[in-house]
Amino acid sequence: MTEQDDRAAAERLVEVHARIEAAEAEADRPRGAVSLIAVSKTFSADVIEPVIHAGQRVFGENRVQESLGKWPALKERYPDIELHLIGPLQTNKVKEAVGLYDAIQSVDRDKLARVLAKEMDAQDRRLRLFVQVNTGAEPQKSGILPQETAAFVRRCQDEYGLEIAGLMCLPPAGEPPAPHFALLAKLAGEAGLTGLSMGMSADYEIAIAHGATHVRVGSAVFGARAKQT
Ligand SMILES: *Cc1c(COP(=O)(O)O)cnc(C)c1O
Repeated sequence: MTEQDDRAAAERLVEVHARIEAAEAEADRPRGAVSLIAVSKTFSADVIEPVIHAGQRVFGENRVQESLGKWPALKERYPDIELHLIGPLQTNKVKEAVGLYDAIQSVDRDKLARVLAKEMDAQDRRLRLFVQVNTGAEPQKSGILPQETAAFVRRCQDEYGLEIAGLMCLPPAGEPPAPHFALLAKLAGEAGLTGLSMGMSADYEIAIAHGATHVRVGSAVFGARAKQT
């Protein structure tokens, strides 16, 4: 990591913040309505740290194992970091996930909801939870189906005693994302939820126009990723 790379990441962060602010204004939404989650998956601590120094405090990762390798030390040094899990969660990793993350955006099935509730009680930690919706009904993708979302959110609340902050989606690659963002906003409204985690580097301004409260931006902040294996 050279000093020049550090500056580049910090400059990209400033640019993304400026574009978020412009998109908020364009959509007649208050300044600060949208939280930026900087998605640091595949990047090492020495790439992440300059972005922390530039003022960013909310980060997203998609794998528990990878997160455990870099975040405990960073969180110790910067206690006000807020770390979101944005990838699928296996129930055998829930214990570690509850200990490490501040938010989990991939709640998508009853077994996971039940195990999460139990583990949060055991550790006396309350994480912010988002229900992931498979808006494109893609067979390979995690997430509850759109038509099952309202009932699932209700079970999370009533049966498992979970507080649900909102919904999250990851639209199908190669499709215009706007209809998926609109669908997620509609489902959240029907479920009485206000949080909407949607939009990535290529489309976060469109997501903000559709009401996103959290955008998950990776490459536009950190630069291009080598492909994950
Ligand atoms: C990687 C990832 C992102 C960020 O993607 P970019 O295109 O790099 O902004 C957002 N959300 C999820 C769920 C991801 O896995």
